[in-house]
Amino acid sequence: MERVRTKYGLEIVTYFPDRQAVETLLRQKGLYSFRESIDNRKECCRIRKVEPLGRALGPLNAWVTGLRREQSVTRTDVPKVAEDADHPPMVKINPIADWSEQQVKDYIALHKVPVNPLHAKNYPSIGCAPCTRPIEPGEDIRAGRWWWENPEHKECGLHRRP
Ligand code: SF4
Repeated sequence: MERVRTKYGLEIVTYFPDRQAVETLLRQKGLYSFRESIDNRKECCRIRKVEPLGRALGPLNAWVTGLRREQSVTRTDVPKVAEDADHPPMVKINPIADWSEQQVKDYIALHKVPVNPLHAKNYPSIGCAPCTRPIEPGEDIRAGRWWWENPEHKECGLHRRP
């Protein structure tokens, strides 16, 4: 994030989870409740990711994401532009929905886009630290995210299927 800020001269606005919600979750369910069930995992994602995103999107008419159809079985039908079902009438724009991984790499190389150094260490998809591991050769690119769950459940709630 810091390299993006300095390279492009951007003001990056950071949103944190609600402190009280995190403290209550940890007091009631401990540090690792997200490993115990899909419901618990989605509860953690809702508190730490979805609620802050909702605050960030609140005043906006549209947002842009880097979702791509080939990233996972939950993203094969991602449209390039559509109303965001979670935040109507906001529009969600996914300009690289139809890009391949190679197209992304080519663009990064051509424009010298700063990338997370973990990508070079077999982390093609990166989320929170306790829910992300490197992948083995031949594994799906999202295999390192919530690896204890089935692929069709692997969304945190930021991007529900249309
Ligand atoms: S990715 Fe893991 S740690 Fe992060 S919010 Fe979701 S369940 Fe919690």
